[in-house]
Amino acid sequence: MINIQVILTKLRSIKTPSEYLAACFHEKEAPKESICTACAHVGPATRQMFGRADVERALWVILLVLAVIYLVDMLVLKFLNVWIIRAAYKATSIAGKIFLVAGIGYTLVRVSVRSNLCPTCGCTEVIPVDSPRGQKLMQQHHSK
Ligand SMILES: [Zn+2]
Repeated sequence: MINIQVILTKLRSIKTPSEYLAACFHEKEAPKESICTACAHVGPATRQMFGRADVERALWVILLVLAVIYLVDMLVLKFLNVWIIRAAYKATSIAGKIFLVAGIGYTLVRVSVRSNLCPTCGCTEVIPVDSPRGQKLMQQHHSK
C-alpha cells in the first residue's frame, strides 16, 4: 500500500522555486545583529518568506501535471483526432497558462516579501541593534 504521509514528507523536503531563488539572492547578505522587541533576544533574526511553501509547491505540481497532460494530448491528437482529446488539450492549455502565471507570481511574491522573525519567540517585531530604538532596548535589557 502507498503511504501518503511518506510521499508528503518526501515532497516537503523538495525546495520550492522561491527557496532556490532566495538562496541565490538573499542568503549571501550577512545576517544583522537584531534585538526582539517582545523578548529582547539579541542575535541574527530568522528570515521568513511570505505565504506558504505548501501552496507554492501545490501550484507548481498542478502546473507540472497539466503540462504532462497537455503534451500527452498533443501526441495523441496526431494519431487520434477525437473531440474529447481536443477538448482536454484546449482545457489544459488554458488552465496551464493560468497556473503558470499563478505559480510564477506566487514565487516572486514569496521571494520579495520577507519578514524578520525572532528565533526565540517568533515575534516579527525584530529591529537592528544599531537603530535608535534598538539601542534603547539594549540599554534596558542588556546593561548592568
Ligand atoms: Zn523574541
